[in-house]
Amino acid sequence: MFQIEEVNSITERFEYSGGQKVFFFDKNMKEEISKAKDYISNHSGKSAMHLFDYQIDFMINHDGFAEIFRPLSWRQKDMWMPCLVFYYQDDWYVVSIQNVYCRECRWKGIIACPTVADAFDGLKNKQERVHNVYELPFLDCPECGGKLSSNAIWVGQ
Ligand SMILES: [Zn+2]
Repeated sequence: MFQIEEVNSITERFEYSGGQKVFFFDKNMKEEISKAKDYISNHSGKSAMHLFDYQIDFMINHDGFAEIFRPLSWRQKDMWMPCLVFYYQDDWYVVSIQNVYCRECRWKGIIACPTVADAFDGLKNKQERVHNVYELPFLDCPECGGKLSSNAIWVGQ
């Protein structure tokens, strides 16, 4: 994960994720996305640019996803962490896209997992959010209904 210092010049649109105010991008915000890419390519390394491009491409190609910059306190500075989010159970959840398998049948595929450490790093209400995320109804195998190898709130077809 990487951080951004100045968001004001990129976008003013915000939403809430876990009660936190976050800067928000959907796939229609082409101008803001382009400004964000310019900012990241001028201020961060290649791996940060690669990660951001991956998240944006994923959002554009899959319904229900968006990109946020969430606040992160780091060494007394307010920074912003770009994260892919998915809308589920009336909230936006930070997710990571993972390759998983079914523990019962041979199904393999991709899922969005909300229980990754990156989703909670630097949160002021970390314990409450962790508890909230682990209470979510996780999805089962789309083939047989068996348990998947990780916690999913979205399963790719
Ligand atoms: Zn299965």
